Amino acid sequence: MKRKIHTYTSKEPMLQVKAFIVEGNDELVIVDTTLTKSDSLALRQQADSLGKPISGIILTHGHPDHIAGAFNVKQDQDIPVFAVPAVKQLMLDTEQAKHAQWSGMFGDEWIPQWAYPTEIVHNNDQVKIGNMHFTVLDIGAGGDCDANSIWLLEDENRAVFAGDLLYKNNHTYMNDGGILRWLSNLENLAPSLKSYESFYVGHGPVCELKDFDKQRAYFLHYCSEVLKATNGTGIFNDETRKQFEQVMLTAYPDYGCQFMVGLSADNVGKELAGHHH
Ligand SMILES: [Zn+2]
Repeated sequence: MKRKIHTYTSKEPMLQVKAFIVEGNDELVIVDTTLTKSDSLALRQQADSLGKPISGIILTHGHPDHIAGAFNVKQDQDIPVFAVPAVKQLMLDTEQAKHAQWSGMFGDEWIPQWAYPTEIVHNNDQVKIGNMHFTVLDIGAGGDCDANSIWLLEDENRAVFAGDLLYKNNHTYMNDGGILRWLSNLENLAPSLKSYESFYVGHGPVCELKDFDKQRAYFLHYCSEVLKATNGTGIFNDETRKQFEQVMLTAYPDYGCQFMVGLSADNVGKELAGHHH
């Protein structure tokens, strides 16, 4: 059968993170939960408007713009929250630091308490949530944070919930130091996902398999320009960082999330230079 997949796009303007509601005959599964109080409550409201119970919440990866809203989506109900072990561990390791870092900036919109995964699943597990079947792939640190997974919905949709593995038409967050692992994930995963049609991602429109190549080309372009701008050292100064940003923005004039270009530059430089020496 074919499930209906609803997209919730955050009103928060910087990241415009997406969450998904998979609608079955009698139930819903929520994939990722947005960042802010308003967005997560609106996501829950959209789910409630469908008039079916929530059978489970899936957290694809360990960044706040996907996991923070789980508390408000779950509310005080006994809804299971599914994730791979590394996602739970990353939440444990970073929760206090993220509260300290962001609560001032987001004020009332920051969610002060996180809801943790209650169901820990592992690579290649077949996960049954209500009447829906998923296969989970634990893809490790090769994504936009240190703990990433992708979820294959095993029905006629041929849909994959890919978290932040692909940033279609957006500059990419590469600040957590896993760019080489990320590149190899894109290369290694694509062949095994040939039979899947739609890749639902956290930022940007629904992707296709060919977007794996596009993402890889973007990374290679980005890394090459980092090394060019820093004369191979990977170390920027304010001037070379600015020049590098300009080169990337010119090369991808239609891409969103422009602030990501400069944000990730130093750490990508560090990673590349570290491997170089
Ligand atoms: Zn994200």
